[in-house]
Amino acid sequence: DRIISANLMMDEQAVELSLRPRYLGEYIGQNQVKENLKIYIEAAKMRSEALDHVLLYGPPGLGKTTLANIIANELGVNLRTTSGPAIERPGDLAALLTNLQEGDVLFIDEIHRLHRTVEEVMYPAMEDFALDIMIGKGPSARSVRLDLPPFTLIGATTRAGLLSAPLRDRFGVVSRLEYYTIDELSFIVARNAELLGIEILGDAAEEIALRARGTPRIANRLLKRVRDYAQVRGDGIITPEIAAESLKMLQVDPRGLDSIDHKMLQSMISSFRGGPVGLDTIAATIGEESQTIEDVYEPYLLQIGFLQRTPRGRIVTPAAYHHLGLPLPPQQN
Ligand code: ADP
Repeated sequence: DRIISANLMMDEQAVELSLRPRYLGEYIGQNQVKENLKIYIEAAKMRSEALDHVLLYGPPGLGKTTLANIIANELGVNLRTTSGPAIERPGDLAALLTNLQEGDVLFIDEIHRLHRTVEEVMYPAMEDFALDIMIGKGPSARSVRLDLPPFTLIGATTRAGLLSAPLRDRFGVVSRLEYYTIDELSFIVARNAELLGIEILGDAAEEIALRARGTPRIANRLLKRVRDYAQVRGDGIITPEIAAESLKMLQVDPRGLDSIDHKMLQSMISSFRGGPVGLDTIAATIGEESQTIEDVYEPYLLQIGFLQRTPRGRIVTPAAYHHLGLPLPPQQN
């Protein structure tokens, strides 16, 4: 697995749980999203009503699951967590929904992967807090409506574009999470170092933040690796020098690009004059799935302006040539 992957790795769950902020006040960044949620949560509490359904979207590792947990904490209700593909049949969804208490939050990760038949049961559940269940078969079959306690659905997705319009329209609050700034990530690294009992000095947190691709999950992972290095090579204290050395050893460059990013950009330049190159061709070149590149790696490269998307494929930008220390091809000069 790539160290700069924003996807959760097998052994990371326990540490993530321990580092997860629990209330809005501890959740760094995403200020617009937080401001809005604060008001909606307050209003729902004042009216003793369930919060409107919330859709959170954005690249992995930016804090969607964390935010869902925080919303439930702030509301003082229970949270049930599942994911789109885990709900296989309408009956599975019915079981989840009928087990909720009034005001509870149901969190569905990867909601764009809900099965069609399940999604249809979701519409009346979200809109009228009701389940329509078919009883019997053939000519004697009939539909029975079952009332549900008012609840809040929080859906998370990395691909809002894949959500069907009827599902998307049933969310009252739709929030897009953005990549974090270096300052915000430095703050997160410093806070998490403290929680983990790691001493970190001066600009060392920023050294890590610079390479974290705007993503708290990656910042946490780099912090752990740098801590290991500090323990083995130093006295356990993370100084800026120790941070820089260990990050160099991990082959993550100062903008958070790893050797595979380099290989991808370099082959786009050497074999395709910088593009446009189709996503599938890029995928074949570096041995990753197209979907993974599109969902996980490319959004950051687009965000920092190293890649551009055009209808004919991806283009390497002058900023990326500059970063790689390569001359621009003649027509771009
Ligand atoms: P997602 O669901 O979007 O993939 P998570 O909510 O699982 O991302 O976040 C991954 C980890 O990043 C969390 O466990 C937490 O430690 C950290 N994190 C995410 N957002 C924040 C934040 N705003 N402030 C501090 N830490 C955060």
